[in-house]
Amino acid sequence: MRNEIPFAGYLFYRYANEEKHGEIRNAEENGGFARELVQKHGFETLKYKNGVLPPDEEIETFVALRKAFPKLKIRIDPNAAWTVTTAVRVAKKLQDYDVEYFEDPVWGMRSMARVNAKTPGCCWLQI
Ligand SMILES: [Mg+2]
Repeated sequence: MRNEIPFAGYLFYRYANEEKHGEIRNAEENGGFARELVQKHGFETLKYKNGVLPPDEEIETFVALRKAFPKLKIRIDPNAAWTVTTAVRVAKKLQDYDVEYFEDPVWGMRSMARVNAKTPGCCWLQI
């Protein structure tokens, strides 16, 4: 039995609601939402759901999150939207930004194995 269970704050792109609030479409808006989650709920881990925008824009968002939250664990999950080539390129560009792990960067075990072989030192998890 545990008295506490760690949760991750989810960062994701989304449309505005009916009152035209809450849209998240770039690094600045992701950062604002992250600050809100951390301040309101005390999250020590953030999970950046991506695979939506061009990968270079999402790299910029991750770097901005890392700079804004240097002590938090930050993981990334593009929902298997990337090719092996893209996943390897992104992993190499983010190798100095302390990614906790990449979740499902590509689809399928063979592709995951190819990415893993080309990016030693990265941590990968498929759920
Ligand atoms: Mg996932």
